[in-house]
Amino acid sequence: MEHNTTKSRRAFLYQLSLAGLSIPLASSTFADEQKQTTMQQKKEGKLGIALVGLGGYAGGQLAPALQQTEHCYLAGIVTGTPSKIPVWKEKYNIPDKNIYNYDNYDSIKDNPDIDIIYVVLPNSMHAEYVIRGFAAGKHVICEKPMALTVADCDKMIAAAKKAGKQLSVGYRLQFEPHNLEMMRLGTTKVYGDIKKMTAGFGFMIGDPTQWRLKKDLAGGGPMQDLGIYCVQGICYTTGMVPVAVTAQEGPKTIADKFKEVEQSLKWQFEMPNGLVAEGEASYGSNMNFLRAEAEKGMFELSPAYNYGGLRGKTPEGPMNFTNINQQAKQMDAMALSMIKNQPSIASGEMGRRDVKLITAVYEAMATGKKIKIQ
Ligand code: NAD
Repeated sequence: MEHNTTKSRRAFLYQLSLAGLSIPLASSTFADEQKQTTMQQKKEGKLGIALVGLGGYAGGQLAPALQQTEHCYLAGIVTGTPSKIPVWKEKYNIPDKNIYNYDNYDSIKDNPDIDIIYVVLPNSMHAEYVIRGFAAGKHVICEKPMALTVADCDKMIAAAKKAGKQLSVGYRLQFEPHNLEMMRLGTTKVYGDIKKMTAGFGFMIGDPTQWRLKKDLAGGGPMQDLGIYCVQGICYTTGMVPVAVTAQEGPKTIADKFKEVEQSLKWQFEMPNGLVAEGEASYGSNMNFLRAEAEKGMFELSPAYNYGGLRGKTPEGPMNFTNINQQAKQMDAMALSMIKNQPSIASGEMGRRDVKLITAVYEAMATGKKIKIQ
């Protein structure tokens, strides 16, 4: 009975808010309830996302993209930096009850506004926060690389299964038109078999104190951060997963920054059909390409991995695709998979596969040997 009364009051208030009307409120409890229920009902049909870690990617890309999404919205934040709260609260209209820190993070389980946890922390922290997200009974999106070890990936996948929730990895290019075209051209052999495959991603890294240069937080250097895009590109363009790898570390020419991680590296993946796919990643030079040389000509993207401005060409000329908001597309696709209970394209298993490949690249680089990938 009480439930019905609350419901009809909510519906009434929702109508008022849609009409842009307001009424004097009898009590602050009533006011709070109005704020909360209006938010819930306005977002009806959309899944609420809580971003965990409010750094460059969350603030610069994901939060703005969540203003454009159709199937999910920015419902909450989890941060260890209290000074960020007022700015985010104000900018994105986030209610206090949806703001968490790393200590009370687990109590997010009691918050029905949050359906999805999106972990955007330094790499070594992904596993813990993903597993805690599943323990809270939420779906989880985890940034790349999924974790630093395959064993951690296994724990994350097991946690998802136990919770009966989805795990997705933030592979935005799995949903991006130019990269989707590379998949189509390569896997359907539009220009015949691929004879040579190369991929490279690098930029000049700045601040020498950042976590990306710390082994314990990043797990490695440009391989973890940028090489992973090349690993993805090679796999989705060829439609194959490598079976062996050799790798070589590049010289450290900017000595003060690379005390703990590689500055650059090259690797050679042996594909199941004998094709050798070459990858390269660097924090000391600029490169950004994904290239397939096939029997009937070359198709490529350059730049291939940026948030926008991607360009592609085929033997028939330039590709003609719009550059979209990649993060909005990615999060909408993932939210839709969760809503429909369909498997995510960028699944935990795919994230695990890539962690396994990266681990093999590092082993090959360290030993100088060809490493078989089971
Ligand atoms: P960032 O340094 O800008 O932000 C990291 C956040 O983690 C900050 O809010 C920081 O306060 C918090 N943090 C918590 N504990 C920390 C610690 N011990 N050390 C450092 N920071 C700590 O990093 P970012 O660029 O936002 O990257 C975050 C994650 O997102 C990484 O896993 C990265 O690989 C991924 N990422 C993905 C893309 C993509 O295109 N998919 C792009 C950028 C970053």
